[in-house]
Parts: sequence; C-alpha cells; structure tokens
Amino acid sequence: MIGLMMMKNKSLEIEKYLDYLFPDPKCELNYTNDYELLIAIVLSAQTTDKRVNSVTSVLFDKYPSLEALSKASLADLETILRPLGSFRKKALYVHNIANILHGEYNDTVPHDRDKLENLPGVGRKTVNVFFGEYLGKPAIAVDTHVNRVTKRLGIAKEKDNVLQVEEKLKKCFPKDSWAKIHLQLVLFGRYHCKAKNPNCKECQIINLCKEKKKNL
Ligand code: SF4
Repeated sequence: MIGLMMMKNKSLEIEKYLDYLFPDPKCELNYTNDYELLIAIVLSAQTTDKRVNSVTSVLFDKYPSLEALSKASLADLETILRPLGSFRKKALYVHNIANILHGEYNDTVPHDRDKLENLPGVGRKTVNVFFGEYLGKPAIAVDTHVNRVTKRLGIAKEKDNVLQVEEKLKKCFPKDSWAKIHLQLVLFGRYHCKAKNPNCKECQIINLCKEKKKNL
C-alpha cells in the first residue's frame, strides 16, 4: 500500500515536471496522412527523426500515393533511403508495406493492431506510436529514450524488457495521459536526460533519479 502511494506520488511529480517542460508535446516526424506517418515510424528505427524527415520529404514528393510507392523500384527506394541506416531492409519494408496497403487494403491503413503488426517492419512499438499520434488512442511506445528514462527514474528495473517497461508505465500514469506521456518522455530523453551527459544539474526530478550520482 505504501509502495503504491509512493509510486503514485512519484508519477504525479514526474508528470507535473514533464508538463512544465513540454506543455504541448508534438511528434517530430513530418507527415501529411496516415500511411506517411506509418512509414516514417518504420524508417525511424535506429536513426533520428531529423534524418527521417530529410528522406521522407524526397520519398513522398517523388511517390505521392501508395499506388505510386508500390510501383517504385527497390533500387530507387534504396537510393532515397541510403542516408538512413539499414537502407536496404528499410527500402524492402516500404516497398512491401505500400504493396499490401494498396493491394489488400484499398489504399487505406487498417486501425487494427493485429493487421498493422502483420505489415513488414511494423512491431508493437510502431503501432503504439501510430495509435497515440494519429488515432489519439491511449498507448505508450517504449523506444530507446522512454526505456532509458523510465529505468533511471526507477519506474522500471534495469532488467525489464520493453513490454514490462510499457506495462509499468501504464500502471503509473492515467490512461488518458499515455499518448502525451510517451511524447514527453521521448523529448525528455532526447533533449535533457540524454544517454550520454544528461543535463542532471538542471533536472528538477533529480530527487527521484537512481542515476544522479553517476551522472553528476
Ligand atoms: Fe535524467 Fe539526470 Fe534527471 Fe536523472 S537526474 S532523470 S539522469 S536528467
């Protein structure tokens, strides 16, 4: 009971600070529709949103529909996606996703988790980002930033896998805040609580952090 109360107080303090830092958090991937967002999220694995935005502006300009994208040659997709890591694999994902959405879903993106997770390169994290960002559904995606920050703040244990981290975050924060908390944790990890040299001196939740000594 006391443990639960302490966790509740901790999550309230974290949410208050994140609301102060990022009162209106926004996804930093550029997109104009659902399939562009889905593809941008797939491309964002192991790279920065900035780099993804620089290639998707070329990609979606040259191939402005799912049909056009499905007809693109793999070689050209690889050329466009080359600035990203794993560009061959990512080109294949884009090619196959466009083919499936065009051929099987009539140029629409299904809003069903199982159908989405069956698409090439789309996993639970991708669907969670898509649900939270595009559909406004309650979801918390655990990427590298969310994983790191959650563990530093002692919400999850070091040995927890991403699914366990997601479950612990969901227990900590109210359901209607999940999508917002996800974005705020990403931004906090990206700009403040960075993997190397986090800005601990300025951090106002340092009292909750397990790693403060190490990082100071
Ligand atoms: Fe991150 Fe440092 Fe704040 Fe801990 S004290 S949460 S490591 S920024």
